[in-house]
Amino acid sequence: MEYSVIRSNIKNIYIQIKEGKVIVKAPKRISEKYIEELVKKKEKWILKKLEEENNKEEEKIITHEDLTQLKNIVSQSAQKYSKNIGEYPKKITIKDMNYAWGSCTGKRNIAINMKLANKRKEIIEYVVLHEICHLKYMNHSKEFWELVEDNMKNYKELRKELKK
Ligand SMILES: [Zn+2]
Repeated sequence: MEYSVIRSNIKNIYIQIKEGKVIVKAPKRISEKYIEELVKKKEKWILKKLEEENNKEEEKIITHEDLTQLKNIVSQSAQKYSKNIGEYPKKITIKDMNYAWGSCTGKRNIAINMKLANKRKEIIEYVVLHEICHLKYMNHSKEFWELVEDNMKNYKELRKELKK
């Protein structure tokens, strides 16, 4: 764990996370060793804070170009997988969603989370495939996952990556 130390005339010791960096603010007389041990002890908390900051950054930087690219990938892969599987959605909408990467309704409308604009192409394709497969199986049955796998051999890795 990398960190920098700023010493001054303060009484307590603080750990601050700023722009992806770990800064320890410490009183002048506290030893390096003490600081090192403290950082080690707080490692879990620090990593969590770094990740939170990272996620916030990611949400912020969806640009118009990212969205256009997302739309292209979604429509191209939807065409490809619909043709392979023989199931076509009525409509695909890209929108801001908080609880899922994608959804599929009984009326055959698919929604894709616009936050995927920050993910790589393969991940986006997996989400599209997943929702197209729901047009055939409205559940996560064995048959559903077999259909996913038939169309994307490495879907398990992608699914894992998406859950991070
Ligand atoms: Zn599903």
